Amino acid sequence: MASITFKNICKIYDKEVVAVKDFNLEIQDKEFIVLVGPSGCGKTTTLRMVAGLEEISSGELYIDEKKVNTALPKDRDIAMVFQNYALYPHMTVYDNMAFGLKIRKMKKTEIKERVINAAKILDIEELLQRKPRALSGGQKQRVAIGRAIVRNPKVFLMDEPLSNLDAKLRNEMRAEIIKLHKKLQTTFIYVTHDQTEAMTLGDRIVIMKDGFVQQIASPQEVYNNPANEFVATFVGIPQMNLFDAELIMEDDEYILALNGHKINISDKHKKILKFKDIKPQSVRVGIRPENIMISEKTPESFEINVDMSELMGHEMLIHSKLYNSHIIIKAQSRLNIKADDKINISFMTDELHLFEKETGHNLL
Ligand code: ADP
Ligand code: MG
Repeated sequence: MASITFKNICKIYDKEVVAVKDFNLEIQDKEFIVLVGPSGCGKTTTLRMVAGLEEISSGELYIDEKKVNTALPKDRDIAMVFQNYALYPHMTVYDNMAFGLKIRKMKKTEIKERVINAAKILDIEELLQRKPRALSGGQKQRVAIGRAIVRNPKVFLMDEPLSNLDAKLRNEMRAEIIKLHKKLQTTFIYVTHDQTEAMTLGDRIVIMKDGFVQQIASPQEVYNNPANEFVATFVGIPQMNLFDAELIMEDDEYILALNGHKINISDKHKKILKFKDIKPQSVRVGIRPENIMISEKTPESFEINVDMSELMGHEMLIHSKLYNSHIIIKAQSRLNIKADDKINISFMTDELHLFEKETGHNLL
């Protein structure tokens, strides 16, 4: 049981590398938080500061309302699972799992009970007498998690624990981790660069870039209401389409113009723009591939030429260009659209996103 609070946490390495800047977050007890972002954005550094493995340059870190900036790792009651498993090669699985408890001088009977209990949870009871070299990647990862479970910590930290596994195993283990969190009822902070993992695992996700938090919200909220252009394109596969347009006023109403071609703005979005008093300006328009419709020719629609189509089971991805921008449209495979077909498309206007051109901020 633990809540964790970050207040203006910064980490600067060697007096010049700003790895994490003004990180603010309140994690609730039992919450599953995912830190996600491209390589080098500061995820591991943040996790290591929580574990006490990295000094905090400035700001305050609290675990259960207690300031822990300078607390030793062993006094934080936190367990961390690493990407490379970090198992001791000469020890059996049992001894690997028991090791952390032995050095804490726990009684043998208690150690045995905890190891066997964790092995049951992870379904690795059969493997307890094996050495790591006799284990598959997935089994090693379970042992690494088991070593954290036996400690019965207040907080679990996991740094890209699945990235060394193949795609199928990764999917299976993702489901296992969700179950594990339910069973253990503990606070989890999970780091990944993989947006799918983040979207499926997190109660809330923290999206980072270049040491800065971009958005903290539920997966749903991040998908539907991204804070900026970076977040918009980071989540969702295939990624959100983006193109330049002009936000203009016509008869006192907002409307978009793309190379002179008008695109309507929904009433809902007009109200928001009006309320925020957004001035006419150049913008970036975003639309997800599933929100473009293949339609009849209408005054609103665009005629485009199909460059390529990819069949993906019952759906297909259509690649094309809208003026100079590459766009991807998700459609039903039965439409059987092929390269060089000419199709008409229109946008679900409720699902349009508008970003400020300079800053990338979401205008809606
Ligand atoms: P991530 O885990 O998101 O890939 P990291 O937290 O590992 O990112 O790194 C964030 C930034 O800090 C990167 O620019 C990285 O090069 C730098 N960095 C990480 N560890 C050190 C270190 N020990 N010394 C100097 N710079 C570091
Ligand atoms: Mg990392």
